Amino acid sequence: MKYTLQEEELIGRINWYINLRWIAVCGVFLTVLFVSKFLKIPLHTTPLYTATFIIVGYNLLFLLYTKKLLKSKKPGEVLKKANYFANVQISVDLISLTALIHFSGGVENPFIFYFIFHIIVVSILLSRKASYLQATLAIFLFSGLVELEYFRFVPHICLKGFIKTDLSQDKIYILSIIFVFATTLYISVSMATSISQRLRQRQRELTLANERLIEQDRLKSEYVQYVLRVSHDIQEDLSSIQSCLKVISAGFVGDVDKKQIEMIKRTEYRTSTLLHFVRDVLGLSRLKSFRALEKKTTSLSEAIQSALMSMSIRPEDKDIKLELDLPTELSKVKIDEINLKELLVNLIANATKYTPKKGEIKISAKEEEENILVEIQDTGIGVSPENIDKIFQEFYRADNAKAIERDGTGLGLPIAKQIVQNYGGSIWVESEGEGMGSKFCFRLPKEVK
Ligand code: ADP
Repeated sequence: MKYTLQEEELIGRINWYINLRWIAVCGVFLTVLFVSKFLKIPLHTTPLYTATFIIVGYNLLFLLYTKKLLKSKKPGEVLKKANYFANVQISVDLISLTALIHFSGGVENPFIFYFIFHIIVVSILLSRKASYLQATLAIFLFSGLVELEYFRFVPHICLKGFIKTDLSQDKIYILSIIFVFATTLYISVSMATSISQRLRQRQRELTLANERLIEQDRLKSEYVQYVLRVSHDIQEDLSSIQSCLKVISAGFVGDVDKKQIEMIKRTEYRTSTLLHFVRDVLGLSRLKSFRALEKKTTSLSEAIQSALMSMSIRPEDKDIKLELDLPTELSKVKIDEINLKELLVNLIANATKYTPKKGEIKISAKEEEENILVEIQDTGIGVSPENIDKIFQEFYRADNAKAIERDGTGLGLPIAKQIVQNYGGSIWVESEGEGMGSKFCFRLPKEVK
């Protein structure tokens, strides 16, 4: 059976309170033994030990009842019963403590202030109202005992050897002790309940926030799955449209004149741009639902070579000087080979796209304590300071980039960022401004040898 958070918390605390009682019982037993044997203060040990055994007995019963309570199947029943149960336990404890105090000196016993512990416990376990009621019961029991002893309705056991005079007959002393006792208990309730209520409220808020996060996560993953399915279907259809267009323009299904070929070519171009876009959306969605579980490692220099080979536009096509500055002994990077290659392709292709002819691109890597730092620097169009934060956003393309390259998806950098994040790294860009070139840097954890 699943308990509510409130029920779980209350039952946990009841268990804690029962355990605490075992410690208290041992404490009472040892104190009585020590005071009577070593301090030689004449205590009525028989009723004190009897009271201790009674506490042991009812604690066992409480323990059994807690187990029974947990078997309750009806929703909400556990909380109601546990509240009632906690109230009963505290009341029984207050009566036991009053009895112990009575058999060990009554108002003369300094342990009277141990009532505060019960009041703090009730303030933690139960409501404000219950705490004030239990505090009132404690005051009623204590003042009742003291008065009964004062009017000699019950015998007073004087702590001779510890107290010089019989305080149970000292009216002023008794009244002031009752006053201090009552105000101490009420102040303790007020302070302890306000702290515990605030903590409970905070806990409720945290639980709610956590539930909201879980729900958001679920919705996000549902959404990602939906995007994955739709873009996958669109991608398939676009691919078949593209192949049909190729068949038509090649003349396999009949003659096509020049004008028609031109139109088909334009359609083909648009289709391939769209296909590119859908592939990026699909790739990004896959990366978002991906969790880097396998601990694969990849050589950076091999990944750079492989990225350079597979790029559709290469630096040499634009007469761009490419410089590689990689240490000969470089640790492997903790990332899957395909992902590292895709990350590098995106960054190097951007550097190539957004750098005018005869420019320069420099790729360097540095070994750090736990990471590898990679920098891809170009002498291209640069990024203005106001766009620095925006360019990693999905679909964002800066105006200076649009002016150079009409087509683009604005998804290359978000993909790069998602890859780096999936493997516990970070990515950023540095640029002095438009026309000043840019430096894209990323850091990824390295293989520990
Ligand atoms: P796309 O290249 O398709 O526009 P990206 O996500 O790869 O999409 O890049 C987003 C934007 O970041 C680009 O449109 C451009 O404004 C800027 N950008 C990316 N790389 C560079 C670069 N090397 N130099 C200057 N701007 C860049």
